[in-house]
This record gives sequence, structure tokens and C-alpha cells, in this order.
Amino acid sequence: MQITCLVCDQKFPLSEELHEEFDGEVKCPKCGSRLHVALKGGKIRRLRVKEEGTKKVEELLEELRRIHEGNSITSN
Ligand SMILES: [Zn+2]
Repeated sequence: MQITCLVCDQKFPLSEELHEEFDGEVKCPKCGSRLHVALKGGKIRRLRVKEEGTKKVEELLEELRRIHEGNSITSN
């Protein structure tokens, strides 16, 4: 079974033993967000963001840095 991260849309598999019954946290391997997942009978009953990962913020900062660099080049 695959879970889709609600923050970054990354799909990632749950480990085999969690396929039928599970209620707890999983961590997105891409953005590091903590998601609360509840499975019952092999189906997702609940999926919500518990804590958003920080990678998105870092990406945003990186983008701002790039924009800033671009501006300083054109203003010279
Ligand atoms: Zn994610």
C-alpha cells in the first residue's frame, strides 16, 4: 500500500506489516512531514498532517536566494 504525503505529494510505501491494521505516525521520506495514518482492513481510514516537514521551507529559501542572486547580477 502506498501513502501519498499531504504536504509534498510524494508517494511512499508503508512497510509490509502495516498493511492491514495500523494507527500511528509515518514520516515522509521526501519532506520529513509527520503524517497520522489509520488503517483498518487494509484501507486508509484516516490520513492527516501531524507536523509539516521543514524541507519545503528550505526549498523556498533556496529559491529566494537564487532570485536575490539574479537581481544582484542584473543590477550591476
Ligand atoms: Zn512529504
